Parts: sequence; structure tokens; C-alpha cells
Amino acid sequence: MPIQTLNPATGEKLESFTALNEEQVEAKLARAHKAFLDWRDQPLRERVKLLRKVADVLERDRRTYAELMTQEMGKLVGAAEAEAMKCATCCRWYADNAEKLLAPEILDIENEDASVHFQPLGVVLAVMPWNFPFWQVLRFAAPAILAGNAALLKHASNVPRCANALEALFKAAGAPDGLFTTLLVGSDAVPALLADPRVAAATVTGSEAAGSSVAEHAGRNLKPSVLELGGSDPFIVLPSANIEAAVKAAVTARTINNGQSCIAAKRFIVHEDIYAEFEQKFVQQMQALIVGDPMDARTQVGPLATKQGLDELDAQVQACIKGGGKLRIGGKKLKRPGFYYTPTVLAELPPNSPAARDELFGPVAALFKARDIGDAIRKANDSRFGLGASAWTTTTREIGRLTEELQAGSVFINAIVASDSRAPFGGIKASGYGRELSAYGLREFVNVKTIRIAKAAPVSEAVTE
Ligand code: NAP
Repeated sequence: MPIQTLNPATGEKLESFTALNEEQVEAKLARAHKAFLDWRDQPLRERVKLLRKVADVLERDRRTYAELMTQEMGKLVGAAEAEAMKCATCCRWYADNAEKLLAPEILDIENEDASVHFQPLGVVLAVMPWNFPFWQVLRFAAPAILAGNAALLKHASNVPRCANALEALFKAAGAPDGLFTTLLVGSDAVPALLADPRVAAATVTGSEAAGSSVAEHAGRNLKPSVLELGGSDPFIVLPSANIEAAVKAAVTARTINNGQSCIAAKRFIVHEDIYAEFEQKFVQQMQALIVGDPMDARTQVGPLATKQGLDELDAQVQACIKGGGKLRIGGKKLKRPGFYYTPTVLAELPPNSPAARDELFGPVAALFKARDIGDAIRKANDSRFGLGASAWTTTTREIGRLTEELQAGSVFINAIVASDSRAPFGGIKASGYGRELSAYGLREFVNVKTIRIAKAAPVSEAVTE
């Protein structure tokens, strides 16, 4: 993929970038490693200070960052500003909780001073996607850097200005040279980076293909990895739910970030007793959405990020219709410059259609009818993905079954799936492994070191096995 800035709202190319050559990558990697060797010995208060400063810069310059994101990948500018603020909140949460998160744990083992310590691993490579170009990066970088690691960012090739702005953000906050480094390189550079002994671990947020390739090379080099991959989240609505609230949330959940979110609800599974009412109201509200310029505050759905994404989505929708699915509304590209797709609702889909099997990355909703809660859960779990799940009911027994039986990294009841610094985030099955955010996210990139000092005998006489 060429490294370039292309405005998805107009299709206009704004800037092209040349990928770094081998010597340039080597120089940056050496600097990142040197920065790690120094950073790991910095007292925790210094690391906390940096995160607070990063948060301040994010907050201060949020409009600039928002416009940058919108221009490169088309998200609504208001949502982009909220994204910059969410990054600031995340940095502050880790700063506020640093002492607690990194405090050694005392173990209760007789005749020993035994404890667990959390030490940094080294330079961590982050392979990141374009859809939340700031949030995906900060939610990895804030805990990793707090723990004493250095961060190396290989961002998606269509958001190079965001990638450079992120490095500049850390510099402006006072980060030491090389602690947060952006590498403008293609994905073909990733295997060599993972093979380099100075790179200790990797995290990837992106497609299944990117995830399995990074995991393969990390595995070959015996390095840990975290994979945050795709999803086809179910959104279950049962008869006791507040239908008005569920419909409103369903529209938001499907069209957030112009439909390009891993945790967007994609399969709407509705109990047959309320299906007709849900469908009628949902279609009406999807049809009423204002599609247009993402810089305009009135716009509710902007363009897709790339032409390739637009073509792929349209091909999936046409395959659904060809396979027997029924088109309720939408189903076409908008006739205007840029990469716009009409909000679309598909129904009566056969189980092997792309909307049932794969991830549709755009404002396209797939409706399914369920006989009862058991049928709804079975349909929800009939997916290779397992990222998030949202379910709507007011019945305690049903809440118990849904939270217990849904196969997903998180289950939200009467709310849409969302990430939050305070709660672990991640998936199972083809949605990946490992967790981000909260204490769990921080623990992914540390050496959980056990220290056991015998009290009874002098150390030199202790049994060593
Ligand atoms: P993508 O094509 O996989 O790209 C993501 C990143 O991986 C980019 O930096 C890309 O670089 C790189 N990449 C692609 N193929 C690679 C390979 N073989 N080896 C190493 N790196 C590779 O995904 P996307 O289209 O940008 O993002 C959309 C996907 O991300 C969706 O599936 C979405 O669900 C998922 N996602 C998941 C989460 C989560 O938290 N679970 C969050 C957001 C998005 P280039 O750009 O240079 O190709």
C-alpha cells in the first residue's frame, strides 16, 4: 500500500511519503533501544509526569488532531475530537493508578520473603490500523510506556500524518528522544523488525490477515504478541427490552465511525415477537441519517476511509443480495466524489451470506430473526469472531444466560459495546488474544518477575531446585 494522505471525503491525494530505507529504520531502532535502556531506570514519578503531559497536549491540541484524523480517514470531526479526549483520559487514568498497578505483590510463602515485580520488556512494536488512528495507538502506548517500555509505531499506510503527529505529540510532552518512534514503513518491513533482538514484543490491531502474519513472525522469534482483530458483534433484542432505546442504540452501534469499528454491532438478532416493530423503526432511523462531509457538524455518517474498503463493502452487499438476502434500504455507493456508501439494511439472510459469516466494515446492518433466547444465543455464537456482544432485555434470568453463554471478550447488557480505560478489552476466537486497557493491558508487556528470598538458611546453602 502506498504511504499517502488521501482525503476520503473528496478522493483528493494530499501528500505522498517515501518509506524509510533499511539504514533509516536501523538508526531509529537503535535510538528506540537506547531510549528504553534509560527509561526503564527512570523513577515511576517521571513516567507518570510524561503521561500527564501527553494528556495535556492532547487536550490542548484536540481540534488540530481531530482535523488531521478527519482529513486522512474521514471520521466525523466531532467524533475525532472526542477520540483525542479519550486518549487524554486514558493517559490520566494510568497516571492516577500507576503506583497501584505497578506495586510489587507480596506472596504468602512460609520462611521466605516472596514477591512479584513488574518489569518492562523492552522496545514494543505496535502495528496499528487507521480506524481510530489516535485511540488505538494511545491505549497501547500509555500503559506500555508507563511500565518502562519504549514504543515503535508502524501505523496504517493511509494515516502517515497522524503517525507523525503522534511522535511529535510525545516529543512536545517532553518524552526522551526515541521513546516513542514512528516508522513510516510498509507491512513488508514487519518480519525483519520482529526478528531484530532489540524488539521484545508486538501488538497488532487490524485484520485477521495482519494478525496471523504478525503472530507467526513473533512466534518464530519467540516473542509475545497481543492481537486485537476483527469482529462481527451480535446485538440481541428480546421482548422485555425497551424497544425505542434498543433501536436508537442499534443505529448508533452500527454507524459509529461511519460503520468502521471492530466493536460496531453488525448482526442484529431480534426475537420474532418484536421483530416486525424493531425492523420498521430501525429501517426508518437508518434511512433518516444525514450522510455527508465529515467536517460538517450536522453530518451523521461520513465517507469510508478508502476506495478499496468501499469496493469491498459493496461487493459483500451485492453477494448477500445475490445469495437470497433482501435489501430493505441502501445497498449502493453514493454518486459524488469521495468514498460514500448509503446506510444499508439487509434482512432474511441465509446463514452462509457474507453478512452472516464475515465482517462488514461500513454502515451496513444485517437483521436476523430468533425463535427464543436459546436460538438468539446460538445464532450470536455461530461466528468465527468473538469480540463484543450487546444484548437488550430486562429479565434477570435472561441476563444470566446471556452473560454466561455469549462467546465474546465482553458482554454489555442494555448498552452498546465500548472500550474504557478501566476495563479489559479484547477478543476470543478469530478476534484475537490478549487484553488491552486496565491492569490487564499493562501486564501484557511486563516481565512478571517472581523473587523468593529464603529466610531460614543462608542463600549460599539453599536448595537450588
Ligand atoms: P489491516 O489492513 O490489517 O491493517 C492494520 C495494520 O496492519 C496496518 O498498519 C497494516 O499496514 C498492517 N498490516 C497489514 N497486513 C500486514 C501483514 N501481513 N503483516 C504486518 N502488518 C500488516 O486492517 P485495517 O483495514 O487497517 O483495519 C480494519 C481491521 O482492523 C478490521 O478488521 C477491524 O475490525 C480491525 N480492528 C480491530 C480492533 C480491535 O480492537 N479488535 C480495533 C480496530 C480495528 P498497511 O496499512 O501498510 O497495510
